[in-house]
Amino acid sequence: MTEERKCEICGKGFIPNKYRPNQSVCSSVECQYQRQLTNMAKWRGRNPNYFRYKETRDSSWRETCRSRSLEWRKKHKEYLKLYRDAHKERHRNYMRDYMREYRKRKGLDQGQAEKGE
Ligand SMILES: [Zn+2]
Repeated sequence: MTEERKCEICGKGFIPNKYRPNQSVCSSVECQYQRQLTNMAKWRGRNPNYFRYKETRDSSWRETCRSRSLEWRKKHKEYLKLYRDAHKERHRNYMRDYMREYRKRKGLDQGQAEKGE
């Protein structure tokens, strides 16, 4: 039953899932992603008017989409700000440590140089 197959996308051999005997793509993330893209492209080819139909007919759907993306953008902005603040803090700490090390090393070098002469 467990017969090895060749993946349609990467060409590597794989054992198909026993619950999906028609599986033609291995389970690697890249190949699954590619498969999804291909499926979507095929599906769009079969239903070329789906999105247009949805958008023109179902205005509430469009509204949902828009508010969802606005929400996402807002969240994303907040996230970015948090990230930047955290990063700034980290960068500042890093620079402070770096300068401390730098000064220490410089002082040490000078001390040694003076001693050596
Ligand atoms: Zn594959």
